[in-house]
Amino acid sequence: RRTIFSGIQPTGVPHIGNHLGALAQWQKLVKEAATQPTDQRDSLFFSVVGLHALTVPQVPAQLRQERRDMFAVLIALGLDDPAGGAVVFHQDQVPEHAELAWYLNTVTPVNRLMRMTTWKSKLATLRNANSEDEVDDSMLQLGLMAYPVLQAADILLYKTSHVPVGHDQSQHLELCRDLAQVFNRAYPGRRPDGKGKGKGVFRIPDVMLTTHPRIQSLRNPLAKMSKSAPHPASKIFLTDSPSEIRSKIKSAVTDSTAGVTWNPEDRPGVATLLQVHSGYSGESVEQIAQRFSGPSGIAELKEELAEVLSEGLKSFRAEFARLRTEEAYLRGKEEEGARRAREAAQATMRQVRAAVGTD
Ligand code: ATP
Ligand code: MG
Repeated sequence: RRTIFSGIQPTGVPHIGNHLGALAQWQKLVKEAATQPTDQRDSLFFSVVGLHALTVPQVPAQLRQERRDMFAVLIALGLDDPAGGAVVFHQDQVPEHAELAWYLNTVTPVNRLMRMTTWKSKLATLRNANSEDEVDDSMLQLGLMAYPVLQAADILLYKTSHVPVGHDQSQHLELCRDLAQVFNRAYPGRRPDGKGKGKGVFRIPDVMLTTHPRIQSLRNPLAKMSKSAPHPASKIFLTDSPSEIRSKIKSAVTDSTAGVTWNPEDRPGVATLLQVHSGYSGESVEQIAQRFSGPSGIAELKEELAEVLSEGLKSFRAEFARLRTEEAYLRGKEEEGARRAREAAQATMRQVRAAVGTD
């Protein structure tokens, strides 16, 4: 049976790139699980990873709100559907994540972390920000460097077999697999019958690379749509109203060629519109392009896309707005999620401690 884990940081309401690139896959996994016979059903764990958000400076009141909003987003997307059985929870409410991360720290070579492209690009950003070659050493926190170890702990804690993530995460997943193997070899434990060495506690997880295209910014077709990009019209949030959607789509940067064609190389702006349409309508990009090949095709495509998006996000938007007024209900969901996750996490930690000798 598959066990699937994935996490998302509580850094603001997700945009349609986050949705098509990650959250829509989670929804699909929940739907799939609902059709499986109960005894073969995937175990799904989806987590708001608040401890990861602490690797950059946070304002407490804002973090509190964003954690709650992201949790509400996951519930509004239907990920806790009783039939699909996903456990939706806050990582920071399950202390075993930090505990396992410590055990993994003890088998992690520091030079491995220094080779991570995420770490190296963070260094580069800090260097540019200081506009000198020297980085202010006090900016280089251990937590930021150890981020991939905590991520490995998140995954291994649930004996995860499959991790749906984007390409940007494959280096972290490789580290996670290696740490699991190193730990299993260092601490094989005992066989269940007590006779001889065991095989180690952890299952070695496989990456489930998400195949969805990267969605580009609506303002700059050469950059990716990103939460941290400053221009508000560069992205469409899942909570945007139909009129916000319409005006952002209308002002989306395309090109001066008349009519729509599918040509991501030369016409990246038009390609983004087609990809988003396809992502929400299910129609193929070529087919959509064909329908809008006439001289005023781009304007017409934008019209229809605004409709498709408004319609596609309608039920989410209503459910999210409703949930935000249901404080007590959400608190209850958070507690239930943390309790269910913790049950699994504690079972793994008991085995880890027994294997290591800290039991
Ligand atoms: P930030 O700018 O803060 O990095 P982000 O928009 O890149 O924000 P993340 O929280 O880093 O969002 O990513 C959440 C998930 O969304 C990840 O699985 C990531 O691969 C995916 N994702 C992010 N941006 C896009 C995009 N433009 N197109 C498709 N998937 C995306
Ligand atoms: Mg990102």
